[in-house]
Amino acid sequence: QKELLKVKNLKQYFPIKGGIFGRTVNNVKAVDDISFTVHEGETVSVVGESGCGKSTTGRAILRLDNPTDGTVEFDGVNLLDLNKKEMRKMRKDMQIIFQDPYASLNPRQTVRETLREAMAIQNVVPKEKRADRIAELLETVGLQPYHADRYPHEFSGGQRQRIGIARALSVDPKLIVCDEAVSALDVSIQAQVLNLLKKFQKEMNLTYLFISHDLGVVRHISDRVIVMYLGKIVEVGDKKSIFENPQHPYTKALLSAIPVPDPDHNKDRIFLQGDVPSPIDPPTGCRFHTRCPFATERCKEETPELRSAGYMAEGHQGACHYMELIESGEHQPTRETS
Ligand code: SF4
Ligand code: MG
Repeated sequence: QKELLKVKNLKQYFPIKGGIFGRTVNNVKAVDDISFTVHEGETVSVVGESGCGKSTTGRAILRLDNPTDGTVEFDGVNLLDLNKKEMRKMRKDMQIIFQDPYASLNPRQTVRETLREAMAIQNVVPKEKRADRIAELLETVGLQPYHADRYPHEFSGGQRQRIGIARALSVDPKLIVCDEAVSALDVSIQAQVLNLLKKFQKEMNLTYLFISHDLGVVRHISDRVIVMYLGKIVEVGDKKSIFENPQHPYTKALLSAIPVPDPDHNKDRIFLQGDVPSPIDPPTGCRFHTRCPFATERCKEETPELRSAGYMAEGHQGACHYMELIESGEHQPTRETS
Protein backbone atom coordinates (compact mmCIF):
# COMPACT_ATOMS: atom_id res chain seq x y z
CA GLN A 1 0.00 0.00 0.00
CA LYS A 2 1.10 3.48 -0.82
CA GLU A 3 2.61 5.65 1.91
CA LEU A 4 0.28 8.64 1.89
CA LEU A 5 1.66 10.53 4.86
CA LYS A 6 5.25 10.45 6.06
CA VAL A 7 6.12 12.43 9.16
CA LYS A 8 9.81 12.67 9.99
CA ASN A 9 11.44 14.18 13.07
CA LEU A 10 8.48 16.47 13.63
CA LYS A 11 8.91 19.04 16.38
CA GLN A 12 6.41 21.56 17.58
CA TYR A 13 7.69 23.96 20.20
CA PHE A 14 5.62 26.86 21.41
CA PRO A 15 7.73 29.72 22.71
CA ILE A 16 7.04 31.19 26.13
CA LYS A 17 7.85 34.87 26.16
CA GLY A 18 9.00 36.59 29.28
CA GLY A 19 10.95 39.48 30.79
CA ILE A 20 10.52 43.12 29.92
CA PHE A 21 11.73 42.56 26.35
CA GLY A 22 9.30 39.74 25.71
CA ARG A 23 12.06 37.39 24.65
CA THR A 24 11.57 33.67 24.35
CA VAL A 25 12.57 32.36 27.74
CA ASN A 26 11.51 28.79 27.25
CA ASN A 27 9.55 26.42 25.03
CA VAL A 28 6.61 24.16 25.49
CA LYS A 29 7.87 21.04 23.74
CA ALA A 30 4.43 19.86 22.69
CA VAL A 31 5.78 17.47 20.07
CA ASP A 32 9.41 16.50 20.30
CA ASP A 33 10.91 14.63 17.38
CA ILE A 34 8.36 12.09 16.23
CA SER A 35 8.32 10.04 13.02
CA PHE A 36 5.61 7.80 11.59
CA THR A 37 3.95 6.75 8.35
CA VAL A 38 0.31 6.38 7.36
CA HIS A 39 -0.67 4.24 4.38
CA GLU A 40 -3.46 4.97 1.97
CA GLY A 41 -6.83 3.63 3.11
CA GLU A 42 -5.60 3.05 6.65
CA THR A 43 -6.84 4.31 10.01
CA VAL A 44 -4.00 5.19 12.32
CA SER A 45 -4.96 6.34 15.78
CA VAL A 46 -2.90 8.59 17.99
CA VAL A 47 -3.68 8.03 21.66
CA GLY A 48 -2.49 9.44 24.96
CA GLU A 49 -3.62 11.61 27.84
CA SER A 50 -4.43 15.26 27.26
CA GLY A 51 -1.25 17.26 26.76
CA CYS A 52 0.67 14.38 25.16
CA GLY A 53 0.87 16.24 21.85
CA LYS A 54 -1.63 14.29 19.83
CA SER A 55 -3.79 17.25 18.75
CA THR A 56 -0.69 19.32 18.17
CA THR A 57 0.55 16.60 15.84
CA GLY A 58 -2.68 16.71 13.84
CA ARG A 59 -2.58 20.49 13.59
CA ALA A 60 1.09 20.51 12.60
CA ILE A 61 0.48 18.00 9.81
CA LEU A 62 -2.23 20.21 8.33
CA ARG A 63 -0.07 23.24 9.04
CA LEU A 64 -2.79 24.87 11.06
CA ASP A 65 0.25 25.69 13.18
CA ASN A 66 3.59 25.73 11.42
CA PRO A 67 5.89 23.03 12.80
CA THR A 68 9.18 24.03 14.41
CA ASP A 69 11.19 21.37 12.61
CA GLY A 70 10.97 18.15 10.63
CA THR A 71 9.22 17.13 7.44
CA VAL A 72 5.64 16.24 6.63
CA GLU A 73 5.41 14.49 3.30
CA PHE A 74 1.92 14.09 1.89
CA ASP A 75 1.46 12.25 -1.37
CA GLY A 76 5.14 12.84 -2.15
CA VAL A 77 5.15 16.59 -1.40
CA ASN A 78 6.86 18.10 1.64
CA LEU A 79 4.11 20.33 2.97
CA LEU A 80 6.57 22.49 4.85
CA ASP A 81 8.01 23.68 1.52
CA LEU A 82 4.65 25.02 0.34
CA ASN A 83 3.63 28.65 0.46
CA LYS A 84 0.23 29.71 1.77
CA LYS A 85 -1.50 29.50 -1.56
CA GLU A 86 -0.11 26.09 -2.39
CA MET A 87 -1.00 24.88 1.08
CA ARG A 88 -4.57 26.09 0.71
CA LYS A 89 -4.89 24.01 -2.45
CA MET A 90 -3.45 21.04 -0.64
CA ARG A 91 -6.14 21.30 2.06
CA LYS A 92 -8.62 19.98 -0.44
CA ASP A 93 -6.93 16.63 0.09
CA MET A 94 -6.51 16.99 3.85
CA GLN A 95 -9.50 17.78 5.99
CA ILE A 96 -10.03 17.89 9.73
CA ILE A 97 -13.02 17.11 11.92
CA PHE A 98 -12.97 18.58 15.41
CA GLN A 99 -14.45 17.44 18.70
CA ASP A 100 -16.81 20.35 18.77
CA PRO A 101 -18.06 21.07 15.27
CA TYR A 102 -20.11 23.87 16.76
CA ALA A 103 -16.95 25.90 17.29
CA SER A 104 -15.90 25.38 13.69
CA LEU A 105 -19.29 25.99 12.08
CA ASN A 106 -20.27 29.56 11.32
CA PRO A 107 -23.38 30.20 13.47
CA ARG A 108 -24.73 32.68 10.90
CA GLN A 109 -24.55 30.25 8.01
CA THR A 110 -27.08 27.61 7.13
CA VAL A 111 -25.79 24.14 6.42
CA ARG A 112 -26.29 24.77 2.72
CA GLU A 113 -24.16 27.92 2.86
CA THR A 114 -21.46 26.14 4.84
CA LEU A 115 -21.21 23.27 2.36
CA ARG A 116 -21.43 25.57 -0.63
CA GLU A 117 -18.63 27.69 0.75
CA ALA A 118 -16.37 24.69 1.39
CA MET A 119 -16.83 23.57 -2.22
CA ALA A 120 -16.36 27.09 -3.57
CA ILE A 121 -13.10 27.67 -1.68
CA GLN A 122 -11.60 24.49 -3.08
CA ASN A 123 -13.34 24.98 -6.42
CA VAL A 124 -14.64 21.43 -6.49
CA VAL A 125 -17.93 20.35 -8.07
CA PRO A 126 -19.13 22.64 -10.89
CA LYS A 127 -21.30 25.48 -9.59
CA GLU A 128 -24.51 24.23 -11.17
CA LYS A 129 -24.07 20.82 -9.60
CA ARG A 130 -23.43 22.00 -6.04
CA ALA A 131 -27.10 21.98 -5.01
CA ASP A 132 -27.40 18.33 -5.97
CA ARG A 133 -24.14 17.53 -4.25
CA ILE A 134 -25.35 19.17 -1.02
CA ALA A 135 -28.53 17.07 -1.05
CA GLU A 136 -26.44 14.00 -1.68
CA LEU A 137 -24.00 14.80 1.14
CA LEU A 138 -26.80 15.35 3.64
CA GLU A 139 -28.38 12.09 2.69
CA THR A 140 -25.01 10.36 2.96
CA VAL A 141 -24.49 11.50 6.55
CA GLY A 142 -28.08 10.70 7.48
CA LEU A 143 -29.63 14.17 7.54
CA GLN A 144 -32.84 15.29 5.84
CA PRO A 145 -33.04 17.63 2.83
CA TYR A 146 -34.83 20.31 4.90
CA HIS A 147 -31.85 20.39 7.27
CA ALA A 148 -29.94 22.29 4.58
CA ASP A 149 -31.67 25.52 5.49
CA ARG A 150 -31.15 25.30 9.22
CA TYR A 151 -28.51 26.93 11.36
CA PRO A 152 -25.97 25.10 13.56
CA HIS A 153 -27.80 25.92 16.81
CA GLU A 154 -30.86 24.06 15.56
CA PHE A 155 -29.05 20.72 15.62
CA SER A 156 -28.05 18.21 18.29
CA GLY A 157 -24.38 17.41 18.94
CA GLY A 158 -24.54 14.24 16.87
CA GLN A 159 -26.21 16.05 13.98
CA ARG A 160 -23.64 18.82 14.09
CA GLN A 161 -20.88 16.25 13.93
CA ARG A 162 -22.57 14.85 10.83
CA ILE A 163 -22.50 18.34 9.31
CA GLY A 164 -18.80 18.55 10.14
CA ILE A 165 -18.27 15.25 8.37
CA ALA A 166 -20.37 16.35 5.37
CA ARG A 167 -18.26 19.48 5.12
CA ALA A 168 -15.02 17.46 5.22
CA LEU A 169 -16.36 15.06 2.58
CA SER A 170 -17.67 17.84 0.35
CA VAL A 171 -14.22 18.50 -1.11
CA ASP A 172 -13.45 14.81 -1.71
CA PRO A 173 -10.32 14.60 0.47
CA LYS A 174 -7.75 11.82 0.71
CA LEU A 175 -6.92 12.22 4.38
CA ILE A 176 -9.16 13.25 7.26
CA VAL A 177 -7.69 14.09 10.65
CA CYS A 178 -10.36 13.28 13.22
CA ASP A 179 -9.45 15.14 16.41
CA GLU A 180 -11.58 13.67 19.21
CA ALA A 181 -14.29 13.60 16.56
CA VAL A 182 -16.74 11.51 18.57
CA SER A 183 -15.58 12.33 22.11
CA ALA A 184 -18.38 14.76 22.87
CA LEU A 185 -21.13 12.42 21.70
CA ASP A 186 -23.28 9.93 23.62
CA VAL A 187 -22.06 6.37 23.28
CA SER A 188 -24.92 5.28 21.01
CA ILE A 189 -24.38 8.27 18.70
CA GLN A 190 -20.62 7.63 18.82
CA ALA A 191 -21.13 4.18 17.34
CA GLN A 192 -23.31 5.61 14.56
CA VAL A 193 -20.75 8.24 13.61
CA LEU A 194 -17.85 5.75 13.77
CA ASN A 195 -19.74 3.36 11.53
CA LEU A 196 -20.42 6.19 9.09
CA LEU A 197 -16.72 7.05 9.03
CA LYS A 198 -15.84 3.41 8.36
CA LYS A 199 -18.37 3.18 5.57
CA PHE A 200 -17.01 6.29 3.85
CA GLN A 201 -13.51 5.00 4.22
CA LYS A 202 -14.35 1.90 2.21
CA GLU A 203 -16.37 3.73 -0.40
CA MET A 204 -13.93 6.59 -0.97
CA ASN A 205 -10.62 4.98 -0.03
CA LEU A 206 -10.17 7.57 2.71
CA THR A 207 -7.26 7.60 5.10
CA TYR A 208 -7.83 8.61 8.72
CA LEU A 209 -5.53 9.95 11.36
CA PHE A 210 -7.72 9.38 14.36
CA ILE A 211 -6.77 11.36 17.44
CA SER A 212 -8.44 10.17 20.62
CA HIS A 213 -7.97 9.61 24.33
CA ASP A 214 -10.68 6.95 24.29
CA LEU A 215 -9.20 3.48 23.87
CA GLY A 216 -12.59 1.85 23.41
CA VAL A 217 -13.19 4.03 20.36
CA VAL A 218 -9.63 3.48 19.14
CA ARG A 219 -10.05 -0.27 19.39
CA HIS A 220 -13.19 -0.03 17.27
CA ILE A 221 -11.81 2.09 14.44
CA SER A 222 -8.03 1.59 14.07
CA ASP A 223 -5.77 -0.47 11.90
CA ARG A 224 -2.67 0.76 13.67
CA VAL A 225 -2.11 2.69 16.88
CA ILE A 226 0.48 5.25 17.96
CA VAL A 227 0.80 5.87 21.70
CA MET A 228 2.18 9.25 22.74
CA TYR A 229 3.47 10.45 26.07
CA LEU A 230 4.73 13.98 26.70
CA GLY A 231 5.48 14.81 23.08
CA LYS A 232 7.10 11.48 22.21
CA ILE A 233 5.91 8.26 20.58
CA VAL A 234 6.35 5.50 23.16
CA GLU A 235 4.80 2.64 21.23
CA VAL A 236 3.48 1.93 17.75
CA GLY A 237 2.02 -1.20 16.19
CA ASP A 238 -1.01 -2.76 14.60
CA LYS A 239 -4.13 -2.70 16.73
CA LYS A 240 -3.88 -6.34 17.73
CA SER A 241 -0.29 -6.01 18.96
CA ILE A 242 -1.02 -2.87 20.94
CA PHE A 243 -4.14 -4.22 22.62
CA GLU A 244 -3.08 -7.83 23.12
CA ASN A 245 0.65 -7.56 23.58
CA PRO A 246 1.46 -4.03 24.80
CA GLN A 247 5.16 -3.58 25.54
CA HIS A 248 5.56 -0.12 26.99
CA PRO A 249 4.58 0.29 30.67
CA TYR A 250 2.65 3.43 29.73
CA THR A 251 0.56 1.58 27.14
CA LYS A 252 -0.05 -1.15 29.71
CA ALA A 253 -1.23 1.44 32.19
CA LEU A 254 -3.58 3.06 29.67
CA LEU A 255 -5.03 -0.30 28.72
CA SER A 256 -5.44 -1.49 32.27
CA ALA A 257 -7.55 1.58 32.97
CA ILE A 258 -10.24 0.31 30.56
CA PRO A 259 -12.92 -1.42 32.59
CA VAL A 260 -13.39 -5.07 31.61
CA PRO A 261 -15.47 -7.80 33.26
CA ASP A 262 -12.55 -10.28 33.27
CA PRO A 263 -11.38 -10.75 36.91
CA ASP A 264 -7.95 -11.96 35.72
CA HIS A 265 -7.43 -8.56 34.21
CA ASN A 266 -7.11 -6.92 37.60
CA LYS A 267 -3.99 -8.78 38.63
CA ASP A 268 -2.01 -7.08 35.88
CA ARG A 269 -3.40 -3.66 36.45
CA ILE A 270 -0.94 -0.81 36.49
CA PHE A 271 -2.04 2.36 38.16
CA LEU A 272 -0.29 5.54 37.19
CA GLN A 273 1.16 7.64 39.95
CA GLY A 274 1.03 11.41 39.86
CA ASP A 275 0.25 13.81 37.06
CA VAL A 276 1.78 14.21 33.62
CA PRO A 277 4.89 16.40 34.09
CA SER A 278 5.16 19.75 32.33
CA PRO A 279 6.21 19.68 28.67
CA ILE A 280 8.19 22.86 29.34
CA ASP A 281 10.81 20.96 31.27
CA PRO A 282 10.18 17.29 30.55
CA PRO A 283 11.95 14.64 32.67
CA THR A 284 15.41 13.59 31.49
CA GLY A 285 16.05 10.17 29.99
CA CYS A 286 12.79 8.31 29.58
CA ARG A 287 10.09 10.92 30.01
CA PHE A 288 7.87 8.38 31.68
CA HIS A 289 10.33 7.62 34.48
CA THR A 290 8.61 9.85 37.07
CA ARG A 291 5.48 7.71 36.82
CA CYS A 292 6.71 4.36 35.59
CA PRO A 293 6.42 1.43 37.99
CA PHE A 294 9.51 -0.18 36.42
CA ALA A 295 11.82 2.84 36.42
CA THR A 296 15.49 2.52 37.41
CA GLU A 297 18.42 4.95 37.63
CA ARG A 298 19.24 4.14 34.02
CA CYS A 299 15.81 5.41 32.94
CA LYS A 300 16.60 8.87 34.35
CA GLU A 301 19.69 9.16 32.21
CA GLU A 302 19.25 7.24 28.98
CA THR A 303 16.52 8.10 26.52
CA PRO A 304 15.03 4.90 25.09
CA GLU A 305 14.57 4.82 21.31
CA LEU A 306 11.72 3.08 19.49
CA ARG A 307 12.82 -0.45 18.71
CA SER A 308 11.49 -3.94 18.19
CA ALA A 309 12.31 -7.27 19.83
CA GLY A 310 12.35 -10.74 18.28
CA TYR A 311 9.05 -11.89 19.76
CA MET A 312 7.17 -8.75 18.64
CA ALA A 313 5.01 -8.60 15.51
CA GLU A 314 6.27 -6.82 12.41
CA GLY A 315 6.00 -3.06 12.72
CA HIS A 316 5.49 -3.22 16.48
CA GLN A 317 7.95 -1.00 18.33
CA GLY A 318 8.29 0.30 21.85
CA ALA A 319 10.57 2.82 23.52
CA CYS A 320 11.52 1.20 26.82
CA HIS A 321 14.90 -0.12 27.97
CA TYR A 322 13.32 -3.11 29.69
CA MET A 323 10.65 -4.40 27.28
CA GLU A 324 12.13 -7.90 26.98
CA LEU A 325 12.89 -8.23 30.68
CA ILE A 326 9.45 -7.03 31.70
CA GLU A 327 7.94 -9.47 29.21
CA SER A 328 9.93 -12.39 30.65
CA GLY A 329 9.31 -11.32 34.23
CA GLU A 330 13.01 -10.73 34.92
CA HIS A 331 12.49 -7.05 35.55
CA GLN A 332 9.96 -6.47 38.30
CA PRO A 333 8.28 -3.24 39.38
CA THR A 334 10.55 -0.98 41.37
CA ARG A 335 7.66 0.83 43.01
CA GLU A 336 4.03 0.29 43.93
CA THR A 337 1.79 -0.37 40.94
CA SER A 338 -1.60 -0.61 42.53
FE1 SF4 B 1 9.74 2.74 32.50
FE2 SF4 B 1 12.37 2.86 32.23
FE3 SF4 B 1 10.91 1.65 30.38
FE4 SF4 B 1 10.84 4.29 30.64
S1 SF4 B 1 12.58 3.07 30.01
S2 SF4 B 1 9.12 2.97 30.36
S3 SF4 B 1 11.01 4.53 32.85
S4 SF4 B 1 11.17 1.04 32.52
MG1 MG C 1 -6.64 17.46 22.12
